[in-house]
Amino acid sequence: MLTQAPKGTSDILPESSGKWQYLEGLFRDICRRYGMKEIRTPMFEHTELFIRGVGDTTDVVEKQMYSFDDLAGRNITLKPEGTSPVARALVENGLYAQMQPTKLFYITPCFRYEKMQKGRYRQFHQFGVEVFGTMSPLADAEVVSIAADMLEALGMKEIELRINSIGCPTCRAKHREALKEFLADKYDELCETCKGRFNKNPMRILDCKSEKCQKLVEGAPLMLDYLCDDCKDHFEEFKSILDDMGIEYIVDPGIVRGLDYYSKTAFEFISVKQMAQGTVCGGGRYDHLVEDIGGPEVPGVGFGMGIERLILMLEQEGIEIPSEDPADYAIITMGDEARSAGISLARKLRKDGYQVQVDMMNRNFKNQFKYANKIKAKYAIIIGEDEVKNGTYNVKNMETGEQKTLTQGEL
Ligand code: ATP
Ligand code: MG
Repeated sequence: MLTQAPKGTSDILPESSGKWQYLEGLFRDICRRYGMKEIRTPMFEHTELFIRGVGDTTDVVEKQMYSFDDLAGRNITLKPEGTSPVARALVENGLYAQMQPTKLFYITPCFRYEKMQKGRYRQFHQFGVEVFGTMSPLADAEVVSIAADMLEALGMKEIELRINSIGCPTCRAKHREALKEFLADKYDELCETCKGRFNKNPMRILDCKSEKCQKLVEGAPLMLDYLCDDCKDHFEEFKSILDDMGIEYIVDPGIVRGLDYYSKTAFEFISVKQMAQGTVCGGGRYDHLVEDIGGPEVPGVGFGMGIERLILMLEQEGIEIPSEDPADYAIITMGDEARSAGISLARKLRKDGYQVQVDMMNRNFKNQFKYANKIKAKYAIIIGEDEVKNGTYNVKNMETGEQKTLTQGEL
């Protein structure tokens, strides 16, 4: 127990943290190109925020939250997703009252008590973006475009964008009735969770992961056929902007998303291999979330991209992420005086921005060389008695084997 991390969590070890940093850097850079600014919200929130925000008929709220009472008896939840906390921060800090739109991105861990599987963990990480304060379909398209840019920049090919519109509360009401009518005589066969959803939120049934429910909803009425004029126009313009942007998509009426707050646009980037955990990025528009959590009427649109799934899919496509960061210099010394000179030189080189490794293991001369090879140092700086006497350094290019004697100035 003591030396085992809790189920569903994992350590990001030095051998892969370089990959994470690369992906994070790329994401930050792409967000910057769109003028998105970073927001960092706390790791936990009042549980009520997620019940109201994510919705109490969702898998997340029904069975996946890490909730507990703190010592003062407040009910607290580790964030299972990033959007509700950002919406809370928008309201609390009055960001909606500044010049609009508000364009935000974040990189955050999320916590969900789920059954552990490949691509499904209890602590996972997301890249997220949210654009608040505009109903314009251009916001939806820019959000999609950020995710598309990210996947394209990484060279991913076996992935497709699926889009849908799940309407607004007005047109969804009609669809809801049609759906209930369709499911009425199948009610007894629904899973227990979906029986509960039947009255509260039947559209959730379309997103049930149980195979039986998946079968039962085959042929169910499609939200796309029930869109009101406003939602229809929005969806048409969204598609036409994606066309302008040269982003390919498939209209898939089955995309309903797992959280309650979505309206109009819903989208997912999924693996073409149709794996069980094949959604790398999901998002959509949420025009009522801010109101639902007690704020003013502020529309929004955004996505969450699972970083672990992104890495899995990159591996599946055989795409290597640059992650090595070898030392510029390994300092190799013989004798105490040389060691002092080496330590002093290392500090100077590091101040100039170089990565420098100095022996800490009391290795002999030969083994210091072995180590320099092992860590793939670009240069070895060899300091022996002569070098100390003359104030010079013997610099060896570890790739070509070429050696030069340099003064400190020359170095
Ligand atoms: P799924 O249908 O796979 O359960 P979801 O609808 O619950 O996904 P969102 O809440 O939209 O997912 O989260 C956005 C993204 O975060 C997902 O597309 C996925 O890449 C990732 N994700 C969600 N849950 C997990 C998890 N438990 N472990 C790892 N990644 C996850
Ligand atoms: Mg889920």
